[in-house]
Amino acid sequence: MKPTNPVFTGLPTTIFETMSRLAIATGAINLGQGFPDVDGPEDVRRMAAEALIEGPNQYPPMLGLPELRQAVAASNKRFYDLDVDWQSEVMVTSGATEALADTLLALIEPGDEVILIEPLYDCYLPLVKRAGGIAVRVRVTPPDWALDVRALADAFTENTKAILLNNPMNPAGKVFAEEELAAIAALCLEHGVYAICDEVYEHLLFDGRRHRPLMTFEGMRERSVRIGSAGKTFSLTGWKVGYVTAPPNLLEPIAKAHQFVTFTTPPNLQRAVAYGLGKDDGYFAGLSAEMQAKRDRMVSGLSALGFGVLPCEGTYFATCDLSPLGLAGDDVAICARMVEEAGVAAVPVSAFYASDAPSHFVRFCFCKQDHVIDGALQRLGTWLSGRGAAVAGSAVAAETTAAAAG
Ligand code: PMP
Ligand code: GLN
Repeated sequence: MKPTNPVFTGLPTTIFETMSRLAIATGAINLGQGFPDVDGPEDVRRMAAEALIEGPNQYPPMLGLPELRQAVAASNKRFYDLDVDWQSEVMVTSGATEALADTLLALIEPGDEVILIEPLYDCYLPLVKRAGGIAVRVRVTPPDWALDVRALADAFTENTKAILLNNPMNPAGKVFAEEELAAIAALCLEHGVYAICDEVYEHLLFDGRRHRPLMTFEGMRERSVRIGSAGKTFSLTGWKVGYVTAPPNLLEPIAKAHQFVTFTTPPNLQRAVAYGLGKDDGYFAGLSAEMQAKRDRMVSGLSALGFGVLPCEGTYFATCDLSPLGLAGDDVAICARMVEEAGVAAVPVSAFYASDAPSHFVRFCFCKQDHVIDGALQRLGTWLSGRGAAVAGSAVAAETTAAAAG
């Protein structure tokens, strides 16, 4: 038999799918894969249902329904004061994942270097490789996840074609600071590099922070591809509706990739997302406020149990340092035990690194109902206190278990 393509052959199933399967098999509370446990707005879902019945249910235009492309352009103006031509600068995709694949296939030639920032979202590396690109990795490091601008500058070479930036960042919960974004923009300009901006968590920032697309920086409008996801903005992750905003000369080849990857996206979902993007400011403020309250609930509970919770400025995720707990094993082993013994699924952060990963961080997803968060904390408390001498400061853990339970 001839070999299949080595980029995908032998890759493990994603950590998100693996942990979700384990959670189902063991009856664990699933704080692994990032999805809300309550579906998003009913009016948006009703709109999708009505559009499904009323039709048409035939191929929509390849670039997306005009009403959704107009809504994406209008959102760019409304939230970021970006002037975008919906006809030549916006395209709808089947999720941000497809948008990332299309963009990398369209922009990268074999041998091009693509800068990725670790910890990195799981699809980046295989997609860069499959496009023929060479991934050049730079790190943000816990606990503060600050960007080492000098290291980033060193990563740029004459072969650098693009940087792929995830802001707000999964799994770190980091929102890149204005100065960091300015430094990235300056490097892109200096080296004539494209910026592929995965901004799926653009409406999930906390503590009064506001998202600033890299595309809004001087000189970046012409070289940035901005990717959003209705899955995150409307708490409907299964819908897989994404959108790309890019200047016409970049959107054109990206659309050519899209036409042979999926060609289009279900029309009823597009109609509903177009409606959703027009919701009033209260909806968007409410989304981040609700998520912030869930973050606070999860973070204070985990801290009380002794986890070293890192700052979380946005996204669905709280990352914790396991070291203070004194548990044996690395993050993968601890997550495996946690799901089996505690009945709580989380994600080992080492899964977000290509090599030399730190091995004592774990990611908890907090976009869950309060009673689910509380239940998970209670289970974790019971588990940790039951581990006796294995747990540093187990008396504290026992005390906090009682607190979490009460
Ligand atoms: N990028 C990041 C950083 C994500 O966390 C996710 C998770 N859903 C995606 C892209 C994919 O988005 P979608 O489901 O719209 O494909
Ligand atoms: N983005 C989600 C996460 O980080 C997972 C999406 C997926 O499973 N592909 O958990």
